[in-house]
Amino acid sequence: MISFFKKGLSKTVDAIKDIGIAADDKIAKDQLEDLLLEADITYDLVEEILEGLPTNVTREKLEPKLLNCFSIKEPTDETAKPFVEIIIGVNGAGKTTTISKLASQYKQAGQKVILGASDTFRAAAIEQLSRWAEKIGVEIVSTAQGHDPSAVAFDTISKAVAKDFDRVIIDTAGRLHTQANLGNELKKIMRVSAKAMPDAPHRKILVLDGTQGNSAINQAQAFHEMVELDGIIITKLDGTARGGAIFSIAKELQLPILYIGVGELPEDLVVFEPSEFVTALLDGIYG
Ligand code: GDP
Ligand code: MG
Repeated sequence: MISFFKKGLSKTVDAIKDIGIAADDKIAKDQLEDLLLEADITYDLVEEILEGLPTNVTREKLEPKLLNCFSIKEPTDETAKPFVEIIIGVNGAGKTTTISKLASQYKQAGQKVILGASDTFRAAAIEQLSRWAEKIGVEIVSTAQGHDPSAVAFDTISKAVAKDFDRVIIDTAGRLHTQANLGNELKKIMRVSAKAMPDAPHRKILVLDGTQGNSAINQAQAFHEMVELDGIIITKLDGTARGGAIFSIAKELQLPILYIGVGELPEDLVVFEPSEFVTALLDGIYG
């Protein structure tokens, strides 16, 4: 697990190493500032992290400041059966790929999984999810392009309830004609889901493209305002040196980072552990 984690952060850690590794177990505060900014932590948060630290900073002093950026992660109560997750985010963020990874991991764990193709805006999106469902060997509910995405969610959850499924994962569109349309549609999917099963959806997850770094924060806030999110997944961290943005995203949104995507294989979706993430960065800084 840890090696996958490190693999995903190697570009971020390499960028840090380029700025300089601590000598004598300490790093000068202004050098530390440079490298935290280089990793794409927002300026304000870097200042907050550095506040109160001495001119030369040890690993022991820095570690709690970095860990502090993450809210305490309450373990999700995943006892609902079926446990319904709705995946949202802009086009290209990695929603469909992430759904296939989750589905494959749940299936590996012996769970009965069904997918709902509620991204009915694009025919290609329905086809893409259907191909994944077939490849992984899980069921899918889908309709033709242009059909009501809420109806797909309703049918998927209803089938899961009737047929004793453990997990429902619903894909959604990332773009409609307007932002207001998208907000209304997402809200409707949530309302209609609750009609198929009280308390559903159990988790509303936003998928963010990690290569966007900090610019993903505004996007995340907009979605959070539309449909109170429960957690975030950050993808494509294998392809970016901007992994430090995870700190700013977690801190600004005050939401748990549930998983990170570090590649295209099913196992390249890794449970996010703040302590492992901070250790990987500290290893980069202190060698
Ligand atoms: P969607 O529009 O949000 O559903 O995005 P897709 O799931 O179709 O993904 C868009 C692209 O990002 C695809 O080419 C995926 O293979 C790629 N992708 C998704 N997650 C990851 C990841 O963690 N690492 C890498 N390298 N690529 C990813
Ligand atoms: Mg998609």
